[in-house]
Amino acid sequence: MTDASEPLPPAPAPADILLQMHEQSPLMVALFDAQDVLVHANKAFRQAYAVEPDGQLTWADMMRDNHAHGRGASIQTDDIEAWLAGVSSRRGKTPYRAFEADLCDGRWIWMTETTQLHGPMLCVASDITSLRQGDRSLRQAHTQALAAAHTDALTGLSNRRHGLQLLRAALSQSEPWPLCIAVLDLDLFKQINDSLGHGSGDLVICDFARLLQAGSRREDGCARLGGEEFLLVLPAAGLPQAQSIVERLLARVRQSRPLPEHPERGYSCSAGLAQASWGETPEALLKRADSALYQAKAAGRDCMVTAEPGS
Ligand code: GH3
Ligand code: MG
Ligand code: MG
Repeated sequence: MTDASEPLPPAPAPADILLQMHEQSPLMVALFDAQDVLVHANKAFRQAYAVEPDGQLTWADMMRDNHAHGRGASIQTDDIEAWLAGVSSRRGKTPYRAFEADLCDGRWIWMTETTQLHGPMLCVASDITSLRQGDRSLRQAHTQALAAAHTDALTGLSNRRHGLQLLRAALSQSEPWPLCIAVLDLDLFKQINDSLGHGSGDLVICDFARLLQAGSRREDGCARLGGEEFLLVLPAAGLPQAQSIVERLLARVRQSRPLPEHPERGYSCSAGLAQASWGETPEALLKRADSALYQAKAAGRDCMVTAEPGS
């Protein structure tokens, strides 16, 4: 019998109960910080993606590891960097998204991502292997078709249509202000094609796409508008921050030597930067960035020009 005078142990705090239950839950739960480093994952998530409790991996490194060892996420590609570019063009761009994904162990999951702008991303996934098996190939084909419709086939970046969609969405939100965009165009690219061949030209375009993606933040939109012209959408970035992102990119491009058969051959790019004004249409903003780009070309290329504020 319990002694009535003996004090009862204090009830655990709800937050502690939540943490304990979430560790035991079959739901896969993980938290990534603003730099996309995995800062917390429960047991189910760690098992599903083969990560250590305190691995401090970035999401991209986690995917590289999964791809290299054939474990965790099922990634069907010969080019993991292009695959990462493709997925990064959709990851963390909206406050919430949900999608189906396959694991290497044969499980099929429903993944949700809840993202704070410049903040953490909470991932919660549930095992839906037993649900609607019959619809599975149809649903996979639908997911793949949707991704393909958003993706530029050569670089894996967002294609023109998806880039303009990201821009339209960013302009219509009240939160991610100020908002800047940059239109970037490779310099004297025809010479690369003409002297080294179209294949080398393609390698340079892909190299630029990788540098663009690597130099941008998770919430930024990176799109290939066509040919060797690209769009960078920078939500919640003022001109000084946008300028430093673009200047850094231009410096990395300058140093890059992407052609194994021509190890001395570099390339450069020019950029037109513009900060959006309230109520400005995507077309008007793009036009201002385009004329700034034109000025950068006229000023000798390999530089950035910032557009005058819009009216
Ligand atoms: P500028 O510095 O003034 O931009 O000079 P540029 O030579 O880069 O200018 P221009 O826009 O005239 O040249 C772009 C070239 O890009 C023309 C086209 O043949 C080539 N191009 C377009 N799409 C592709 C592609 O997918 N692959 C390759 N290799 N070349 C492409
Ligand atoms: Mg060009
Ligand atoms: Mg061009």
